[in-house]
Amino acid sequence: MSDSIVRRTPWPDSTSRPVVTPLQPSVVYASEDPDGLDRQYAEGSGYTYAREGHPNATVLAQKIDRLEGAAGGVIAGSGMGAIGSVFLGLLQAGDHVVGGDQLYGRSLRMMTEDLPRLGIATTLADPTDATRIEAALRPETKMILVEVVSNPTIRIADMAGIAQLARDRGILLVVDNTFTTPRGYRPFEHGADIVVHSVTKLLAGHSDATLGYAVARDPALTEGIRTANVTWGATPSPFDCWLAERGLQSFELRYDRAEATATKLAQALAGMPGVTRVLHPGRPDHPDHNRAQAVLGDRPGNMLSFEVAGGRAAANALTRAAPDIAFAPTLGDVGTTLSHPASSSHRGLTPEGRAALGISEGFFRVSVGLEDPDMLIGEFAAAVSRAQCA
Ligand SMILES: *Cc1c(COP(=O)(O)O)cnc(C)c1O
Repeated sequence: MSDSIVRRTPWPDSTSRPVVTPLQPSVVYASEDPDGLDRQYAEGSGYTYAREGHPNATVLAQKIDRLEGAAGGVIAGSGMGAIGSVFLGLLQAGDHVVGGDQLYGRSLRMMTEDLPRLGIATTLADPTDATRIEAALRPETKMILVEVVSNPTIRIADMAGIAQLARDRGILLVVDNTFTTPRGYRPFEHGADIVVHSVTKLLAGHSDATLGYAVARDPALTEGIRTANVTWGATPSPFDCWLAERGLQSFELRYDRAEATATKLAQALAGMPGVTRVLHPGRPDHPDHNRAQAVLGDRPGNMLSFEVAGGRAAANALTRAAPDIAFAPTLGDVGTTLSHPASSSHRGLTPEGRAALGISEGFFRVSVGLEDPDMLIGEFAAAVSRAQCA
C-alpha cells in the first residue's frame, strides 16, 4: 500500500458554502497539541470523540430545542435511549418514580423490571386523574413520567393537575411528548421539568432513522442526562441525525396535514357500518373531550383508534383488504400506518387485562400520514366493509 493513501486528503477550499448541513461521520477529532486538547476539555469546546458528541447531533438538537423552547438538548440513539439516560442520569437507589399506567411498552418495562432491579421503586397510576397520581406519591418520589396522550387508547392525561402536584412536592415532571409533539403541546409552558421524544416518530417522520431527544429546563439536569447518555453509550449515529434534521424541516407541514386528515378520517370512520367506536381527541364523543380541549386546544393530532365488529377474523380481513396501508407497529411516518395492539404492543396482557383498557380483537390504532384524505377514507371504507363480510 502506498504510504500516503491512509493520510486524509484535505477538504477542498471553497469560497461558497453548502446550503445543506454536511454529514460528518468522523469518530475522532484531531487537536493541535496537548495544550490545545487541555483547553478543549476545560472549556468544553470542540469535538473529541463521536460518542461524546458530534456536529450532526448538535445541529439536530438545536432544531428540536427551538421547537420545545429549550436549550442544550441531548440526542440519543433512540427514544428509549433518551428515557434511559434520564433515569440513569438523575436517579439513584432508594428513589421512587411514578409513571402513567399506559406508557409506551418499553417504558413500562423499564418502570416495572429495570428500575426495581437497580433499587429504584416504581408505581404506575392512571394519569387521567391527578388524584390517582397523588395517591401513588411517597416521600422519596423523585420523578413522575407521563405521556400526554395514551397509546393506543388516546386518553388525555390531567396535565394541569399533575404539573401542580409536581411543583408543590418538588418532584421532577418528565413528559414524553412523542405523540403530541411541540406542535400539539409544549410541556415547558405547562410546568414540565424534562421533555423526552422518540425522534424516530413524527419529528424525523420518514421511518428511516431511530433517535431520541431529552432536555431539562435546568441545564444542570440536562448535563446529568448527557453524561449518562455518553457513559452508557446511547449514542446517535451522524447519518441518522442528518436524516432526522432533513425530515424535521417539513415536520410542521407534515403534522398539520396529517392532523387535518385524521380529523376527517375519524369522522368518516364513525359513520361506517361495522365501526363500533372511534377515539380521536377532536371528537365531541371522546371520553376526555373537555380535557382534550384544555390540554391540546385545537391540535388533536394525527393519532386515532377505532374498533370494528367481528373480532380477530374481521381484523385479519381488514388489514388484508388494505395492503397499501402499512400494517406496522410504528407511528409518525409520511404514510398512514395501522397497528393492532392485541397482537403487538398489548399481546402480553390477558384478554381480561386488554378488555379493561378497551382493547378488543377488533381494535386498531391509526397513525395518519400524508395521503390524499379522500383516497385514504375510500381505502378504509373498503377495508371495513370487507371486514364485515368476514
Ligand atoms: C416509540 C416510542 C418510544 C420509544 O422510542 P424509540 O425511538 O423506538 O426507542 C417512547 N415513547 C413513545 C411514546 C413512543 O411512541
